[in-house]
Amino acid sequence: MPDMEKSDQVSLSSPTELRCITCGYDLRSLPTEESCPECGTPIELSLRGDLLSQSDPAWVARLARGQSVLVFGVRFCLICMVCAFAIPFLGFGLGFVFAFGFGFNIPSWVFSVLFLSFGGTLIVGALFATLGCALVTTQDPRDSLRESSSSNRNVARQALLAMYACVPASFVALLIPFVRTSPQIFPVIFFLSVGTCFTVALVATLGWLAVLAARIPDHDLRSRTMKSARFFRWAVPVLILTALIPPMLSATPPAAGGALIRPGVLSSVTGCVFLVVAAGILIGSFRMYKDLRTYRTAFRKCATEANTTNSEPPLTD
Ligand SMILES: [Zn+2]
Repeated sequence: MPDMEKSDQVSLSSPTELRCITCGYDLRSLPTEESCPECGTPIELSLRGDLLSQSDPAWVARLARGQSVLVFGVRFCLICMVCAFAIPFLGFGLGFVFAFGFGFNIPSWVFSVLFLSFGGTLIVGALFATLGCALVTTQDPRDSLRESSSSNRNVARQALLAMYACVPASFVALLIPFVRTSPQIFPVIFFLSVGTCFTVALVATLGWLAVLAARIPDHDLRSRTMKSARFFRWAVPVLILTALIPPMLSATPPAAGGALIRPGVLSSVTGCVFLVVAAGILIGSFRMYKDLRTYRTAFRKCATEANTTNSEPPLTD
């Protein structure tokens, strides 16, 4: 086991680099028995490699807290996704039973209440997931002086911010006369902009988690996370596009002289693709949720280890 960890350290950090785990200061030219001139952390602690259990304890503890909040939020979102899938079927089933068995229909407000409560749950879940993401994607202090602005971690945070900015921005677009006069344009603007930012944030967060998985180290978890990222990268955009095509088709007047494909056929095809991709996303989300829980357990364990190994007093004679 110790040998395995050692080989990970070598592959993860270049031997010519030595950064302080607390502040990122370049420690290469300094004697290893001294402390970081910037923050006073013993250099010996920064020599242990890139493993999370050997990193800044405060930062790893924040990862563990963030992952708990993220798992909590994603669980809420998953419940909503399952309900969004189940309610139409449940509605048809119950409607059928009531209409033929009892001779009356379920009042429509029952469904309105159901949809509103699931909408509320989804918003709560999304807010918790965002907070969790914000905590999990905080910068490793060791990277503070060397991280690229296009790292997964930075991209994830910027895309999340952009996603929340797109909500009011889409409503501002309603002020444009062209958008106001054709109401079908608004959902296209809204879901394309929010959906694009969401996809980027999701894929970049998974990319960042994959980087952290290598520092747990858990290479199976890392490859599963990268597989999830590759799946969501195309599945979410396809879902959004197939959801938007039928309303867009109904908004455009039929082409004179006959189109290549009849709009009715095209919307049935997009409807089928939508259902298949939505089912795939539901399954993929359950897999991702299971992995997110594995990260939570691993981060908690690393946080405990980082706290015990890195808070040891420096070796002084
Ligand atoms: Zn330092």
